[in-house]
Amino acid sequence: MSEPTRRPLADPQPVESALEAPRLVTEVPGPRARAHVAFDETWTSPSLPRAYPIVPVRGVGTVVEDIDGNRFLDFAAGIAVVSTGHCHPEVVAAVTDQAERLLHFSASDFYLPIYAETCRELARVTPLAGDDAPRVYLGNSGTEVVEAAMKLARHATGRPVLVAFLGAFHGRTYGSVSLTASKAKYHAGFGPLLPGVVHAPYGRLADLDWFEDVLFKRLVPPDEVAAVFVEPIQGEGGYVVPEDGFLEGLRALCDRYGILLVADEIQSGAGRTGTFWAIEQWGVRPDILLTAKGIASGLPLGAMVARRDLMERWGKGAHGSTYGGNPLACAAALATIRLLEGGLIANARVRGGQALAGLADLPERYPGLVAEVRGRGLMIGIEFATTAAAEAVQWACFERGLLVLEAGDSAVRLSPPLTVTEGEMATALELFRAAVAAVAERGAVEAAGSRR
Ligand code: PLP
Repeated sequence: MSEPTRRPLADPQPVESALEAPRLVTEVPGPRARAHVAFDETWTSPSLPRAYPIVPVRGVGTVVEDIDGNRFLDFAAGIAVVSTGHCHPEVVAAVTDQAERLLHFSASDFYLPIYAETCRELARVTPLAGDDAPRVYLGNSGTEVVEAAMKLARHATGRPVLVAFLGAFHGRTYGSVSLTASKAKYHAGFGPLLPGVVHAPYGRLADLDWFEDVLFKRLVPPDEVAAVFVEPIQGEGGYVVPEDGFLEGLRALCDRYGILLVADEIQSGAGRTGTFWAIEQWGVRPDILLTAKGIASGLPLGAMVARRDLMERWGKGAHGSTYGGNPLACAAALATIRLLEGGLIANARVRGGQALAGLADLPERYPGLVAEVRGRGLMIGIEFATTAAAEAVQWACFERGLLVLEAGDSAVRLSPPLTVTEGEMATALELFRAAVAAVAERGAVEAAGSRR
């Protein structure tokens, strides 16, 4: 097989942002942002859960500039997507180069070299259970590959039941939203959802007892369970890290009953936690691994990496997609994988350590406001006492030029690009601490007011 030629990648080190941030030149949101929000809200679906009125027009590395010329440090990264930073020159070059050659040629019906090369690269970086090299299916998004895994799991095992966890987020299409159990609003008004889905408690070693004590005893025998879908660290559910032994115990349970373990690494993967996949930190190998978000730096790509023997149980026409594995997305993924392995995963570990060390004292300093600081690498959750407090901190960060995003019931997540520099991290931590201090101060003033 001939090796496709690749553009050499210049500098594997994190890129320094060319723009300085934060730099606020108007109040936020500024006048143009406010006007744009009004325009947007006339035309776009009201279902979109906008967090706050940031209106970006360009981005470089960790920095985003809004429509009024304000610059923000982006610690939300497009919901943990721009892993290599905004518009990494190597990713832009790879996409531009590909755009000049071939924009589309459906890999479902024909043979597309860059599609197969992307599958091989994903198989190379993904340790699964079993000895064979995995095979890979490409879609356009996270939810699509969750759907693919639901279909493959049922098809390959001949069993109907799928288990997911309370607090999980797996997407919003009918199959994936049936697995999702982070917030009731994702289900409200859409029932009946997919039958054959049950939800287990997440994260503590003791929760594993639920499988024997409740699921297998009261609901369904183990030989009717096709797969357990798990986020190694829950994302939308609040950046919740399971207890050590939880994922290992889940693997053992699945092995005992011939159940497939599906790791949804759509948010936790692509180097974010300081290893290529989060589940590697517990030494666990899933049967199927799902990725999307950070794997292509912002181009729409999802991948299902599955054990070869499972994949070889479904035949031609069982699954496919017109656009999945589009050449531009594949070019971005290949560049992203090389940047991740070329230094960004290591950077995620170091900068994550800096962040956790810089925030560790918050629960002690603000008891009653900050409940916990947790995470791995650059997947960091700060749990607040109430939803209102988390929302207030999110807004206070925005006002100071730092973009963060709520998660779970009352957490704020930090998920910056893996290119984040030491200086950017130090600035972001300062801004975050100032935001928490302002919210604490306001709370104290309000409490004093209500006592009067
Ligand atoms: N799975 C996880 C763990 C996610 O975090 C998400 C998105 O947030 C999804 C699946 C769905 O991905 P998408 O929004 O690309 O459909």
